[in-house]
Amino acid sequence: MPALDKMAAEKLAELEAAHLRREIATVEPFPFMRVRKAGQELINFCSNDYLGLAQHPAVKKAAAEAAEKYGAGAGASRHVTGTHPLYAELETQLAALKQAEAACVFGSGYLANIGVIPALVGKGDLILMDKLSHACLYDGAKLSGAEVKRFSHNDLSSLNKLLKEKDSYNHILIVTETIFSMDGHAAPVGELLALAEENDAWLLTDDAHGFGVIHPEHRAHVQVGTLSKAVGCYGGYVAASKPVIELIRNRARSLMFTTALPPAIIAGALAALKVMAAEPEHGEQALANARKFTAALELPEAQSAIVPVIMGEAEAATATSKKLAEGGFLVQAIRPPTVPNGTSRLRFTFSSLHVDKDIDDLIYFIKNNKLI
Ligand SMILES: *Cc1c(COP(=O)(O)O)cnc(C)c1O
Repeated sequence: MPALDKMAAEKLAELEAAHLRREIATVEPFPFMRVRKAGQELINFCSNDYLGLAQHPAVKKAAAEAAEKYGAGAGASRHVTGTHPLYAELETQLAALKQAEAACVFGSGYLANIGVIPALVGKGDLILMDKLSHACLYDGAKLSGAEVKRFSHNDLSSLNKLLKEKDSYNHILIVTETIFSMDGHAAPVGELLALAEENDAWLLTDDAHGFGVIHPEHRAHVQVGTLSKAVGCYGGYVAASKPVIELIRNRARSLMFTTALPPAIIAGALAALKVMAAEPEHGEQALANARKFTAALELPEAQSAIVPVIMGEAEAATATSKKLAEGGFLVQAIRPPTVPNGTSRLRFTFSSLHVDKDIDDLIYFIKNNKLI
């Protein structure tokens, strides 16, 4: 066997033995949170389409019309051929929703984070990151060249201790998620903001899982988010003051050196934001659905549309996920390195599209089979 193939086969065997090998399954989506996987129809309880907007008629129509009018692809980077007028409209909308002066749209949330962080900090600066932050926040931090230290999850005193070294650095950037993607609970954004301001530090929050579902009371200096989850489309964004956004436009490599989003996606996202504003009940319903589930199973009350159930070892999480599939429910097992070792879990997500019967059936199946 050629050396490259041998290396790949050995690494895959190691993952397999640790129950950490991942397969990208083929799953065909249908309306109302239904999917077909390996010939079986399942109710999807692991989508981040919290408001069902990926399937909303107005969103689909806007995307289809824009594709018809403008074509399938954007053709080049925004810095090369210029920005489609729909981009400016979307950025104005996002800035308003985030109560910021300006916003900039990226190709995805991942691309936003790996572009924004290095645009703002670098060598000689310090990034203080909540330990449970998403991989792309870590990747952005690494790319920046700044020193990175982690504070204990949602722990202000741990953060405060690290802030004592601030005089050794030029700038400090504090990084957290608003709603933690794998845990579903909220960060103390107000307290983090106060602490940042006391220490002349800047706060960056990633609102990937809050937007559209939870309405924050406090706004960070830099707010990153995605159009790929509750907005139901694809893309990422950052909202901040005008000079900060202008600097990001000039420096973020993951904006400059990648092709702009297809016009259909931008048009779809704009339509989705309109639905979100006009029909706030979708977000409320997603949260109510999650809470119906946590109440029935006597779990801590859901703070968002995400409900984790910690299983411990990867094998246990995978086995339970398989059993749920046999019952007709698609629930993904989340394993390291997405979550820390020993905290493999089932991550249930709820959408406004789930009807009472979907959730009742799920609860009944879990209880009846003593799955958790
Ligand atoms: C999903 C996610 C992202 C990435 O967003 P995409 O648009 O899917 O690339 C970024 N941050 C967090 C916290 C996420 O959960």
